[in-house]
Amino acid sequence: MKRIFKLKDSFEYEFTEVKNPKYNALEAALAVAQGRFYPEQETVIVRKLVKRKTSHILYRIRCDYCGGTSTWVGRKDAKFCSAGCRKMAYNERKTMTNHGE
Ligand SMILES: [Zn+2]
Repeated sequence: MKRIFKLKDSFEYEFTEVKNPKYNALEAALAVAQGRFYPEQETVIVRKLVKRKTSHILYRIRCDYCGGTSTWVGRKDAKFCSAGCRKMAYNERKTMTNHGE
């Protein structure tokens, strides 16, 4: 059984603390000068999407339905090369049981 390593992008969220971007510094300075109350700039937690490169192993298996060995699949114990082959094999099995009755 052949196998290869493949790099793929995976996305995940990261939480970071930043200063509130909606804070109006000019307004705050003005408010302080006039003796009005203005809340301090607080920090907010934002969600950031980060891209990471992760590796995974792909296997070359022999398909139970078409017998092909040219497709790389993600599972070592996979039986079929594609969803199409799996569906066809399922249909074949179904018709075979129906004829048997
Ligand atoms: Zn196949």
